Amino acid sequence: MYDIVVAGAGISGCIISYLLAKKGFKVCLIDVKRAEDVGDKVCGDALIGRGLDLLGFEPPSGAITNVASALRFYASGMAPITLKTRVFLLDRPRFGQYFLHKAVDNGSIFVDKCRAFAPILEGDKIIGIKARTDNSQVELFAKVTIDASGINCAIRRNLPKDWWVSKPIGRNNLALCYREIRKLKESKVNTEYCDVFYDGKVVPKGYYWIFPKRDDLVNVGLGARMTTINYDLKERLYKHILSNPVFNESEILASGFGMLPISPPLSCSTASGFIAIGDAAEQVNPFIGEGIRPSIISAYIAAETITKSKDFDQDHLWSYNVDFMKKLGIRHAMFAAFGSFFERLNYEEVKPLLSVYEGGAYKFDDFEDFNIGLLLTLKAFLKGFKQLKSIRREISIIKSVLSIYKDYPDSPKTFLEWMHKAEGFWKDYS
Ligand SMILES: Cc1cc2nc3c(=O)[nH]c(=O)nc-3n(C[C@H](O)[C@H](O)[C@H](O)COP(=O)(O)OP(=O)(O)OC[C@H]3O[C@@H](n4cnc5c(N)ncnc54)[C@H](O)[C@@H]3O)c2cc1C
Repeated sequence: MYDIVVAGAGISGCIISYLLAKKGFKVCLIDVKRAEDVGDKVCGDALIGRGLDLLGFEPPSGAITNVASALRFYASGMAPITLKTRVFLLDRPRFGQYFLHKAVDNGSIFVDKCRAFAPILEGDKIIGIKARTDNSQVELFAKVTIDASGINCAIRRNLPKDWWVSKPIGRNNLALCYREIRKLKESKVNTEYCDVFYDGKVVPKGYYWIFPKRDDLVNVGLGARMTTINYDLKERLYKHILSNPVFNESEILASGFGMLPISPPLSCSTASGFIAIGDAAEQVNPFIGEGIRPSIISAYIAAETITKSKDFDQDHLWSYNVDFMKKLGIRHAMFAAFGSFFERLNYEEVKPLLSVYEGGAYKFDDFEDFNIGLLLTLKAFLKGFKQLKSIRREISIIKSVLSIYKDYPDSPKTFLEWMHKAEGFWKDYS
C-alpha cells in the first residue's frame, strides 16, 4: 500500500512525485514509456517563467537551451505585437529526466513500461489503479491516486460517468499539432523572440510557431482546433513555412503529431482519494496552448493540498480546485471565451483591432491578467473596427466569465449549483 500512486511521468507527474516523496510520502510513479524515454514529448518546448519563482521553482540549467525575452505575435501584413516575459526553451527529454531522477532520488518507486487502465473503487472512493506491464497485470493501492497521464486521462475517463471529475474532453476542445525540431545550416535566428504567426491562409483558426532553442536550432510547428482541420497539417508546414530559405539544408532532429486540450478548465478535478493534474485536468491556456507552466503549478498546488490534508476525501482535497481556479483557472476560462470570439472573426474584421496593438510592446503579465484592453479597443473602433457591438458583447461576456469563476465554491456542498451556472453559460455561449 502506497500513500500516493501517480499515473504518468510527464512534467506534472514527475514534479508531484518529487515534491511528495521529499515530504516523506511513500510514492509510486508509473509510466507507459521506457524510463529512458520519459520527458520525450511533441511540444513547443517553451516554458513561460511568470510566477514560477513564487513557487520556488527554478528550471534546471542543464535542461535549458535558451532564455528568450518575449513572445511575438504576427498577423499578416502587420508589425508584430510583443509580449515581454522570460521564456525558457527546454531540452524536453533532459527536463523530464531531471525531474524523474529527483522523484526517484527522493524515494519514489518508479515503474516504467506500465500502463494504467482503470481505477480501483471502494464505494465513492478511489483506492488505487489497475495497470499492465509487459507480462502481468498489477493492482497498486494508495491513499491518493493522481491522474497525470496527460491528454489520455487514463484514470479520470474510466471513473463512473456521474462523478463530477469524469467529464470527458469534448472533441471540439482538442487541438491537433504537427511539430519538428530543425537544426539549421547556419546560425540564423534571433534567440530573443518566440514567434507565433496567425495566418488564416496557412492555418485557419490556428497558428504556427517558430521558437529558437539556439541560434541554429528551432522548434517549428502548427496546430488548430481539431474539428476545423480538413487539410494535411504536415503538408502545410512544408509548403508555407519550411519553404523559407532559412530552412534550406536544415536537418530534422525530431518530428511528430501531438494533441492538447483547449477548453475552459475542468470544473472539478478531485474525488475522494483522487486528484487530476496537468493536461489530464485540462489545465492548458486555451488561447495560446501553454500547458507546461500550468502543469508545474498544478503539481505544486496538489502536493500542498495533500500535505496539509488530514484526510483525503473530497471535502479535504477540494482546496486544490479552489486554489487552481484562483491561480490560473479563472484566466483560462476568460481566455476560452476570448479565443472563441477571436476564432469567429475573419481576418478583415480583426485587422483594425490588431492594428491598434501592432508594433507595440506590452507586459505578458498584463495580457494574461486582461489589463490590455478597453481603451485600446475604443481606439480600434476609431481606426475602423466595425465590430463595436460584438466587442462590447464580448467584454461583457468576459466579465460574466470572471464573475462566475470568481464565485467558484469553497466546498463541494454548493458545487452542483455553481456547475449548472457555469455549464449553462458555456452552452449559451457556444
Ligand atoms: C504540439 C504541442 C506543442 C506544445 N507546446 C507547448 C509550449 O511551447 N509551451 C507550453 O507551455 N505548453 C506546450 N504544450 C502543452 C504541454 O506540452 C502540455 O500541457 C504538458 O506537457 C502537460 O504535461 P502533463 O504532465 O500534464 O502531461 P504529459 O507531459 O503529456 O505527460 C503525460 C505522461 O503520462 C504518460 N501516460 C499516458 N497514458 C498513460 C497510461 N495509461 N499509463 C501510464 N502512463 C501514461 C505519458 O507517457 C506521459 O509520460 C504543447 C503541446 C503540444 C501537443
